[in-house]
Amino acid sequence: TDTGSQKDRMVAEEEWLRKWETGNIWFHKERGHPLLQKYLDVLLNGRSGLRIFFPLCGKAVEMKWLADMGHRVVGVEVSEKALKEFFVEHSLPFCEEPIPEISGAKKLQTTSGNIALYCCSIYDLSSSIVGKFDGVWDRGALVAVNPCDRQRYVSLMITLMEKNSSYLLVTVSYDPNKHKGPPFYVPESEIKSLFG
Ligand code: SAH
Repeated sequence: TDTGSQKDRMVAEEEWLRKWETGNIWFHKERGHPLLQKYLDVLLNGRSGLRIFFPLCGKAVEMKWLADMGHRVVGVEVSEKALKEFFVEHSLPFCEEPIPEISGAKKLQTTSGNIALYCCSIYDLSSSIVGKFDGVWDRGALVAVNPCDRQRYVSLMITLMEKNSSYLLVTVSYDPNKHKGPPFYVPESEIKSLFG
């Protein structure tokens, strides 16, 4: 559980944008994540019509699943290409509007507004811009955040959660000396200390 070899690694935003431009998106799961299906009841906890947040969303197909179940989905992603591909691949008409609080950023959303995707860095968001959420699906998000930004990321996520919200987090377990990441290895002990 020595994560020392990854702790100083940094992936710049441009590098992520380049992955999308060149189609180097090995992290995208065409069929959705089996763990969301498995733990859906934990996320929903008997509630309906939730607001669910997808940090670092890419074009995750789970956003469509949850919207089809009647929930409102909000995502954030730096790559506009990823967000456009999401709407196009699911044949969802969408419109774009600027986000007044964040210069150069925009929001892409379905015409009914049930899926709203913010094209900006997650660090530009706050609860005054996106509101708070009843649930979070964190797959490929905490593990994609640069190790030096983890505490900042988690502190922000905590401010975006309603009192009774649930948070599903997917991590990967492997020897961090054998791969440089992302996905980065985040040991369970660190998750406990990050979230408190
Ligand atoms: N959660 C998605 C994508 C995982 S890959 C899935 O399950 O498929 C991580 C994604 O985060 C990439 O699409 C990358 O472009 C995006 N990203 C990286 N840094 C970001 C940041 N600071 N703010 C918003 N998105 C970011």
